[in-house]
Amino acid sequence: MTTPRTETVCVGAGRADQPGAPLNVPPVFASSFRAGGEYDYARNEGTPTWDALEQVVGRLEGGTATAYASGMGAVAAVVDLLPAASRVVVPADSYTAVRALVAARGHTVDLRDITDTDAVLAAAEGAALLWLESPTNPLMDVADLPALCAGARAAGVPVAVDNTFATPLLQNPLALGADIVMHSGSKYIGGHADLLIGLTVAADEELAARLRTNRVLAGATPGGMEAFLAVRGVRTLALRVRQAQESAGVLAERLEQHPKVSRVRYPGLPSDPGHKRAAAQMSGFGAMLSFEVAGGAAEADAVCAALRVVNAATSLGGVESTVERRAKLAGQEHVPPSLLRLSVGCEHVEDLWADLDTALG
Ligand SMILES: *Cc1c(COP(=O)(O)O)cnc(C)c1O
Repeated sequence: MTTPRTETVCVGAGRADQPGAPLNVPPVFASSFRAGGEYDYARNEGTPTWDALEQVVGRLEGGTATAYASGMGAVAAVVDLLPAASRVVVPADSYTAVRALVAARGHTVDLRDITDTDAVLAAAEGAALLWLESPTNPLMDVADLPALCAGARAAGVPVAVDNTFATPLLQNPLALGADIVMHSGSKYIGGHADLLIGLTVAADEELAARLRTNRVLAGATPGGMEAFLAVRGVRTLALRVRQAQESAGVLAERLEQHPKVSRVRYPGLPSDPGHKRAAAQMSGFGAMLSFEVAGGAAEADAVCAALRVVNAATSLGGVESTVERRAKLAGQEHVPPSLLRLSVGCEHVEDLWADLDTALG
């Protein structure tokens, strides 16, 4: 048999294969298991449902996965690996709660423009961790992951990559040289805006074991229903991402031509500064994009209020398209005031375009 392709892994990994087993691992609602078997107490050994999710995401990313109560639970497990009072290099444009958590745990946050590879590597020298996100939230900056991972490795600095935007289908940071991949499974992996879950994946078994130990001790365990829904979500991940990505490419091109749009950021656009890097390290450009509405914050808010098919809501990665003016949030002072972040979903692209065009008008 040939090595299964990612679509096949999404559908088939993590299933029980003994005769008579349910085709899909059910949600196991158990904290405690009969003594003498593989499982004992859920926080320690996990559950069959968590295992199913970890197996499929681990296979997709090429390492050993651990699931947590949320994406931030996964981030916390990584941050907990650091010695006290460490310095961590973090992208200046990135998920703000990551910065806040690193600071809250008493570490120094060293914010850098991750598109500047030399500057990031100079800063990484002597740091305890290089945290990366690519493409970034919400400016869609693209980091040169192979160069940054190689440089950091040479300097002895571990690299963790938040791969939430790219999904495990389009970018595999471990294969590009990273030590840890982190996902907010609340986004594309779940895919329906109905759960919170997070994952770490590490190829090094000792590192994976340390992350797992953190879950045992810190206790950020996923819920049984959430893990079940996340597995169910992964089964259609490839279909959803392919559809959403195709629509995102069309919308990005049309938005770029629209008289009421002053700038579009989508790595799939040949005009985008991140295009070459993204083409080299991703197998697709994803379904997230951002654009600036001509005028200012008031004009952008009016667009959000006028949209009917696209939902004005936070979060991303669901079958439903969502839009948000990010500069209104704390910690997003660097974001242009009229920038709208668009998570393209699985609605028909012409319905999405008609909605955007009408709202912009
Ligand atoms: C949502 C998100 C997180 C945090 O994940 P939660 O599941 O909300 O805890 C981290 N990074 C990125 C890029 C995200 O979009």
